Amino acid sequence: MSTAAAFRQKTITYGLIGFAAVMAIAFIAPSEGYYLNILMHAANYAIAVVGLVIVLGYCGQFALCQAAFLGIGAYCVGLGTGDYGIPFFVALFLGVVITGLVGIFLGLTTLNLNGHYLGMVTIAFQMIVTMVLTNWAGFTHGPDGITKIPRPAGFGGGSTYLGLCLVCLVAVLVFAYVLKASRLGRAMQAVRDNEIAASTCGVDVFFTKTVAFGICAALAGLGGGLFAGAFNYISPDQFSFGESVVLLTMALLGGVESAFGALIGTVLLVVLPEWLRFLRQIYLAVYGGAVIAIMIFMPRGVWGLVSKYLFKTAPIGSAPVKPLPLLSRSATVSDEIVLETIGLAKYFGGLKAVDGVDVKVRKGSVHALIGPNGSGKTTMLNLITGLYVATAGTVKLSGQDITALKPHDRTRLGMCRTFQNIRVFRGLTVLENVIIGAERRGNDVEGIDDVTERALAALDFVGLRDRAHLPVGDLPYGHQRYVEIARALAGSPEILLLDEPAAGLNSTEKTEMAELLQRLKGHGTTIFIIDHDMRLIEQVADHITVLNFGRRIADDDPRSVFTHPEVIAAYLGEPRNETA
Ligand code: ADP
Ligand code: MG
Repeated sequence: MSTAAAFRQKTITYGLIGFAAVMAIAFIAPSEGYYLNILMHAANYAIAVVGLVIVLGYCGQFALCQAAFLGIGAYCVGLGTGDYGIPFFVALFLGVVITGLVGIFLGLTTLNLNGHYLGMVTIAFQMIVTMVLTNWAGFTHGPDGITKIPRPAGFGGGSTYLGLCLVCLVAVLVFAYVLKASRLGRAMQAVRDNEIAASTCGVDVFFTKTVAFGICAALAGLGGGLFAGAFNYISPDQFSFGESVVLLTMALLGGVESAFGALIGTVLLVVLPEWLRFLRQIYLAVYGGAVIAIMIFMPRGVWGLVSKYLFKTAPIGSAPVKPLPLLSRSATVSDEIVLETIGLAKYFGGLKAVDGVDVKVRKGSVHALIGPNGSGKTTMLNLITGLYVATAGTVKLSGQDITALKPHDRTRLGMCRTFQNIRVFRGLTVLENVIIGAERRGNDVEGIDDVTERALAALDFVGLRDRAHLPVGDLPYGHQRYVEIARALAGSPEILLLDEPAAGLNSTEKTEMAELLQRLKGHGTTIFIIDHDMRLIEQVADHITVLNFGRRIADDDPRSVFTHPEVIAAYLGEPRNETA
């Protein structure tokens, strides 16, 4: 069965099981009272916590304002149905849309910030929302809150309304499950694990984060809206900063990798305080202690621990796959220029790391860039791929000026690269890493089966097919380099840029790397390569550019470069005998 069909079948099965389970719960639940309230509370909070799983667990962005979004959703329903006479479901829908838009707006203005700055901004947003809800009494009813919030027609009874909330919860869980395995979900995980590598794989990092933020907020809006109908009463203190912390704790406790973690965490934190009530005075201390203990002994949350033992990914079969399209070409170096830099420069303050360098890479050639450490080679590659903005000069890809383009747009036009310091997506398997490369826009692939086939073909090529199912971090260093190369190859680039692929490899691995590059060269892949291993360069290069202190000191065929006096003085030390 194809990957897509198998996944669809699994999703439908889980969805139906979930649906059956919640129907059973709604059926046996009492129609009012204490237990019903606990269930309502857990169901609506869990929806918001799934939002946190998406933004934090999938995408790696901290948001400390989930209660604010929950509140906006709740007030949309409370004010909409009460003060403005809007039907419940319309108000609920508006709440979801409005919180989603607020989330996107907040994302657009803050997601350029990193780590704790983003955390601070979300806290500030949380404070603002609390303040508005409390003080703008004319609109929000102030600290007294809103009472007598109606439930929709047909859902007035406690257990029927609970059924509605639970069905929404199941829908949200299925959504999160499908999202994780989708292209967008993989992009989020790539952003979480390594933003720079994600961008050079063609992922629009800023867009991806913003969408994650929007989804997170919209889900809180849904949870909040349902919450308003559940308890018929809302007030500002229910959506305070403290609640945001509780929601975040729920997500972390359950495990942010999966929406099921959100469910577990929420149920635990809603039920735990109720169970511990008999402890009276020492209740809070025990509760806090229990949370700390779970966090310490299960750093990946309850679900993280459970899934570690429950799910082991099976090896991917060795069924033959179509080879990569770029491997069907034959080795011919043409006069066509794929990549060109004109007067390219990058200054870091007073340091001229790259100082007006011209390079022309011909189609089908292996073009090497060599030079002493600190001569500006990696900076060149970062300028070409768009990770650095050039101080001066132009970069052209197949004749098109791409100097102003972002890294992901350059990747879309056909550039794929590897890094001197390995940048793999640590939270993903080998196959998933390579799939993200295969999903490059412009790669002429459609659907998960297609990209999986491309990824497997790339892994075949570098000899790692039998490792495809493993977490990438389980592979030795040398193999991680191959994963990076496979990830770049899977995108079938017009030009492959390699930054010191042989660095850190032992001599056997170096020989293997040389053999791999020879094979690529044999298929006419255009390669721009940086390396210090002159034996490797000698074996593969058609053309060599030499940098010293950011300036080009030679640019010629290997024979001429290896005997060039300035190159010998600056880098080689002694002339290289080509046949050595
Ligand atoms: P190479 O790859 O040839 O060893 P690099 O391109 O990494 O050299 O670095 C060239 C010079 O630019 C070095 O002096 C390095 O310290 C400097 N440099 C590189 N990146 C940065 C940066 N982000 N900020 C400041 N200086 C940098
Ligand atoms: Mg370097």
